[in-house]
Amino acid sequence: MLNIGCHLSAAKGFLNMGKETTEINGNTFQFFTRNPRGSQAKEIDLNDIESFQKYANEYDFLPPLAHAPYTLNAAGADQKTREFAEMVFTDDLKRLAYLPGVMYNFHPGSHVGQGTVQGIAHISTILNRVIRPDQNNIILLETMSGKGSEIGSRFEELKAIIDSVNHADKLGVCLDTCHVFAAGYDIVHQLDNVIETFDKIIGLNRLKAIHLNDSLMPFNSHKDRHAPIGYGEIGLKALTAVINHPALRSLPFYLETPHEKLNEYAEEIRLLKDLYQS
Ligand code: FE
Ligand code: FE
Ligand code: ZN
Repeated sequence: MLNIGCHLSAAKGFLNMGKETTEINGNTFQFFTRNPRGSQAKEIDLNDIESFQKYANEYDFLPPLAHAPYTLNAAGADQKTREFAEMVFTDDLKRLAYLPGVMYNFHPGSHVGQGTVQGIAHISTILNRVIRPDQNNIILLETMSGKGSEIGSRFEELKAIIDSVNHADKLGVCLDTCHVFAAGYDIVHQLDNVIETFDKIIGLNRLKAIHLNDSLMPFNSHKDRHAPIGYGEIGLKALTAVINHPALRSLPFYLETPHEKLNEYAEEIRLLKDLYQS
């Protein structure tokens, strides 16, 4: 079975996102833990969480995926920026403790001229401060396109972060198809090779989720612009190979190209389910 869902607005709560997911025939979803620009998070609503958990059991959902605000920069040059990232991580993880099994995805960050080594050192310092050995939420590093001074566009960089964290059993990777393609991993012509490379450098056991996006920008462009499924430079044929690949096919897939209407995600999910080999 294809495990799939899309990015949804958390404004109306978890039960609402659950119902929207059913409406589009998905069985998981992604949400921002707070406003994507990083401001104040909503109060935790335990009633909503409880009704969602019941609903998710009933409909056989996989745990949703939480996404940290993308403006955070754990690799930032000034201390204030890094302190803010640490504060948000700490607070988000405290909230996610109410949703065991939910994974927490974040963008590793940008070194803004300090160099990759220094940037990675900042990221691991923060991760070592916020990860608790008994937490039930795995933290995912997202593969990035490498725009500007972004860290995480090379598998080696993600591996270096994982290796410098004490409780690395709490870490995994979320592979974004648009980002890796823009970063120069040719999933269109060399999918097997890319997956083999990932396995050699990071280990496929770390791969926990896929952001399934097409790319508006060409291969190796280091630009991050998502396109609807089948309308970008990756194309439907390559994305079909991704969802059916033996090493990937049982992972949860998340669509994150913004659409006007929920219905458009429903269409993409219908199409992908059609193309998924049972
Ligand atoms: Fe992301
Ligand atoms: Fe993504
Ligand atoms: Zn992106």
